[in-house]
Amino acid sequence: MTNRITIESVVDLLAHAKAMETEALERYLDLAEQMEVHHNPEVAALFRKMARVEGLHVEKILEKAGDKTLPHIPPWEYQWLESESAEAITVEDAHYLMTPHHALTLALRAERRAFDFYSRVVATAAPGEVLELARELMEEEGEHVGLIEQWLAKVPEPDEDWAEDPDPPLLQE
Ligand code: ZN
Repeated sequence: MTNRITIESVVDLLAHAKAMETEALERYLDLAEQMEVHHNPEVAALFRKMARVEGLHVEKILEKAGDKTLPHIPPWEYQWLESESAEAITVEDAHYLMTPHHALTLALRAERRAFDFYSRVVATAAPGEVLELARELMEEEGEHVGLIEQWLAKVPEPDEDWAEDPDPPLLQE
C-alpha cells in the first residue's frame, strides 16, 4: 500500500470523488436504517441529512463531469486512504448491536477519510480546476467532520459489553 496520490486531472479527481461520495451516501442510508431499528430517530435523522448532503456532492460531481466518461474506481484503489487502523468497527461487524456512538464513530472515520483525501489533492495539485474543486470539497468535508464531532460529544459512550456474544468463548464475571 502506498500513500502516493496520483490525481492528475479533473476526470481523475471526479472519479475518485464520485466513488467515495457514493459510498458515503450509501453508508449514511444504511446507518440511518440501523438507528431507526434502535429507536434513535434523532441520530437517524442526522444520517438522513448527511446522506442528502453527500448526495449533493455526487450531483455536483456528475454535473462537473458533464458528458465526460469517468473511469470506474474500484474500492481497493481508494480504500488505502483509510486513515485509521483496521481494528475500527465496520457496519458489517457491528450491525444490529451498534449504538449511536458507534454509528457516529464510523461516520466520523468516513468524513475524515474524505477530508484527508481532498486535502492531499489540495496539497499536491497545481493551480487550476483540480485544485479549486478539491479545495471546495475539502472545505465541505471539513464541515461534516465538525458536525459529526458535535453529535458524537452528545451521545453516551457505549457500555463495555455492547457487543457481548450470548455464547462467549471466555467465562463471564
Ligand atoms: Zn462528507
